[in-house]
Amino acid sequence: MKKAFVVGHPIKHSRSPLIHGHWLKQYGIEGSYERIDVAPADFGEFLKTFPERGFVGGNVTIPHKEAACLGVDRRTKRAERLGAVNTLWREDGLIWGDNTDVLGFTAHLDRSLGQGWEEAVDTALIVGAGGAARAIVAGLQDRGIPRLLVINRTLPKAEELVRDLRDDGPSSLQALPWGDIDAALATAGLVVNTTSLGMAGQPPLDLDLGISPDGAVVADIVYVPLRTPLLAAAEARGLRTVDGLGMLLHQAVPGFARWFGVTPEVTPELRALIVADLEGRS
Ligand code: NAP
Repeated sequence: MKKAFVVGHPIKHSRSPLIHGHWLKQYGIEGSYERIDVAPADFGEFLKTFPERGFVGGNVTIPHKEAACLGVDRRTKRAERLGAVNTLWREDGLIWGDNTDVLGFTAHLDRSLGQGWEEAVDTALIVGAGGAARAIVAGLQDRGIPRLLVINRTLPKAEELVRDLRDDGPSSLQALPWGDIDAALATAGLVVNTTSLGMAGQPPLDLDLGISPDGAVVADIVYVPLRTPLLAAAEARGLRTVDGLGMLLHQAVPGFARWFGVTPEVTPELRALIVADLEGRS
């Protein structure tokens, strides 16, 4: 029986076991996927010894993604570029790491907006410059969006992100101070909230979407609640919206495929299962 895990600290709120457990059942695979709480001081030891403990691999979440990137034997170019690993597996006796958030975000945009959506976007505005913002920027660079604007409350963090990712593709990448947000909104065909604003218990991300071009798309990677105040405001303004849950579901696909040998599908049933859990109905 193949065993996989999600490791983090804390870990009890992770929805990953629900996602992978659903797929194990759906595809009739004898396997398991469990939560493991590991404190930062013990993560290095965990990373080296998970194969001995019988695991084929697993997911890594906050606060271990950067340590995982430094600690693996081999990492993909994508993980190297982001300095963060969220998926581990064994290959030829070595521990490998990848970052699947990038593919999770773009796969969800493809599914929500239809293939080729990127051709209609000249400028994307990324709000926030944390770990998730890096994956979003990398995904949009991969899709060749000509102009990427990164705006963050703490400008030096946006500048650092731009320095780190600037050379990875043809997109122009620019850091902006928070005060420039309206000017940026006026030109952006895609707006992505990557901050924690709008999460349950946090203030909303309050943008003046009246300035946005008609036909703009507003995406939020926050998924608790699923319909954030930002997405509600975008709908009210008549803009297309993309919620954060699809990214979570799609980022899980490559790991499952590596560990269990089947490429799983993100289905409406899976989505409904996680929505029920988020809404406390399961
Ligand atoms: P992080 O590295 O801690 O970054 C947090 C970001 O939010 C920073 O840019 C921070 O700005 C900004 N922020 C926090 N409070 C703010 C405030 N009051 N006003 C303005 N900006 C504020 O976190 P992360 O890992 O990038 O995650 C960010 C969010 O994305 C979380 O809600 C997380 O749950 C979600 N997420 C979703 C998925 C998914 O699959 N859908 C995947 C990953 C993350 P400063 O730099 O100024 O502090």
